[in-house]
Amino acid sequence: MSARILSGKTIAEAIKSEVAAEVAGLKEVHGFSPCLVVVRVGEDPASAVYVGSKVRTAEELGIVSEHLHFDADTSQEKIVEVVTELNERHDVDGILVQLPLPKHIDEREILELIDPEKDVDGFHPINTGRLMQGYEGLVPCTPAGVIEILKRSDIDIAGKHAVVVGRSNIVGKPMAMLLLKESATVTICHSRTKDLPSITRQADILVAAIGRAGFIRSEHIGEGATVIDVGINNVSDVERAGELFSNEEIEKRLTAIENRGFTLVGDVNPREAMEKSANFTPVPGGVGLLTVAMLMKNTVVAATIRRGV
Ligand code: NDP
Repeated sequence: MSARILSGKTIAEAIKSEVAAEVAGLKEVHGFSPCLVVVRVGEDPASAVYVGSKVRTAEELGIVSEHLHFDADTSQEKIVEVVTELNERHDVDGILVQLPLPKHIDEREILELIDPEKDVDGFHPINTGRLMQGYEGLVPCTPAGVIEILKRSDIDIAGKHAVVVGRSNIVGKPMAMLLLKESATVTICHSRTKDLPSITRQADILVAAIGRAGFIRSEHIGEGATVIDVGINNVSDVERAGELFSNEEIEKRLTAIENRGFTLVGDVNPREAMEKSANFTPVPGGVGLLTVAMLMKNTVVAATIRRGV
């Protein structure tokens, strides 16, 4: 069997065009464009790439965006001052503080300071609490994107057994809550789970959010499952790439390693998942693209709720 590839690109493009239409409508009918401000502290190269893509996408869709970048040694007090000002600005609909923050900054204090109504990442305890209680609110973008992939690919969730590997606050836990909201029977696994393959093999829908390249292998996947790979890892070892990719894919991957020193790999072994599963999200080109699209959607949702339109 060879899995159906669930293209994040097609689904992300569809969501982005819906958002662009909504943004145009808000401008025409209510005379404003939603505004997203991204705060970045320090020089983490991956963060720079992510922020660049968020700001660019916002602009493409007609969302006003600002990118506030601060040196790595900026004080906690300064970031608190910046977020407080953004909370107070009426024209700002969404505030995103790019993680990770430098070690001397108390991430929790900053995330809890963001006005929950402008919390487009959905990380504020008010929003995670609403999600836990099953109420509407701003939901973390990556797990929200996974639900969109499932729904728009006509994969039933209700009544299915969904297994989430990973219990982080930004992916694993909200993912489990969203699947529960869609009436899946949900199991959450983590590093202390005993005999992981025996649990993951029971999954109709298996979501991997672990942070270890190619960790989920054939033995973890039940025949015909839907496998959603949230992981984003860099692999620079040519031999390792050989273990992960099929003959059709390997040449492209080796070229990437040669040209930029690494290739992007998810938390699932793609070669084995393609053989064993019925549906599979690729990396790159899968969940990652949805994260940015859902951030745009959240910005519009935040704008309409807060402005009461
Ligand atoms: P974290 O490191 O915060 O969490 C990883 C989770 O995996 C933890 O709950 C951990 O368990 C669990 N885990 C680690 N090792 C094992 C193991 N051997 N067996 C079972 N569970 C294990 O990572 P994140 O949730 O932030 O991210 C997960 C992945 O998703 C990463 O690859 C990240 O890059 C990617 N990501 C992708 C995004 C996208 O847009 N596509 C967005 C955000 C993240 P424990 O709690 O016990 O330590």
